[in-house]
Amino acid sequence: ELKNVTVKYPIKRGLLNQIKAYKIAAKSINFNLFKGEALGIVGESGSGKSSLALAIARLISSEGEICFQSQNLNQLNQKQLRPLRRDFQIVFQDPLSSLNPRMSVEQIIAEGLHLQNISKQQSNVQIEAVLAKVELSLEDRSKYPHQLSGGQRQRVALARALVLKPKLMILDEPTSALDRSTQMAMIQLLRRLQQQEQISYVFISHDLQVIKALCQNVMVMHQAEVLEYQATELLFTQPQTEYTRQLISASEY
Ligand code: ADP
Ligand code: MG
Repeated sequence: ELKNVTVKYPIKRGLLNQIKAYKIAAKSINFNLFKGEALGIVGESGSGKSSLALAIARLISSEGEICFQSQNLNQLNQKQLRPLRRDFQIVFQDPLSSLNPRMSVEQIIAEGLHLQNISKQQSNVQIEAVLAKVELSLEDRSKYPHQLSGGQRQRVALARALVLKPKLMILDEPTSALDRSTQMAMIQLLRRLQQQEQISYVFISHDLQVIKALCQNVMVMHQAEVLEYQATELLFTQPQTEYTRQLISASEY
């Protein structure tokens, strides 16, 4: 649950770089997300979606409450957050820049696991299981990111997050760099994972059709504010704002 979450970036000006003003990237955001559900966040570029995603994952600071399993993440320091971190994972749009090019698929997925005390054998078992979950083949484990397609790279990013068995996944435009058919295969995979593992998703996209295929609820952001927040089905049949109506017709190409 988010209660009045606001993200501000300081704007430095003047000779001494004093902070005199703030850019508000997300303003007083509220939402509820239940276990196993997906919330879509839609909005044009610059509307504040990624800032909100980073704030939820506590990668940037924000005001307000971010309640996760009855704890307000914004009241915890980095040390207190550490044991919770694996429960919420974030996946970004461009897998090529978020995957280390010098690491093999296996090493990328194992990286998070090594932080826990598990044997090489246990880690192998988990890596094989997660590769199967994201529908990559076992031969892919020794490949490097540049040897994979865009869709395969995004599956590796997903596997890296999934292997930690998160309760919440924040997906920031995870399909935007992919072509339409790869996109839809990815959505089907996410939907299956959601049903199997009861993961909750915050799914960010500028494409309403992609959100429609995955999310029960949707939030429309525009210039840092929420214009509309309702069940996805209702959004399509009874959009509350002209802006949403335009988004819907623009997505129906
Ligand atoms: P979206 O993901 O919807 O495209 P962003 O959250 O990236 O939007 O950006 C929202 C607004 O905040 C934009 O005006 C952007 O320029 C600004 N912004 C994003 N990151 C920073 C930053 N690190 N410092 C200052 N302004 C930023
Ligand atoms: Mg963004």
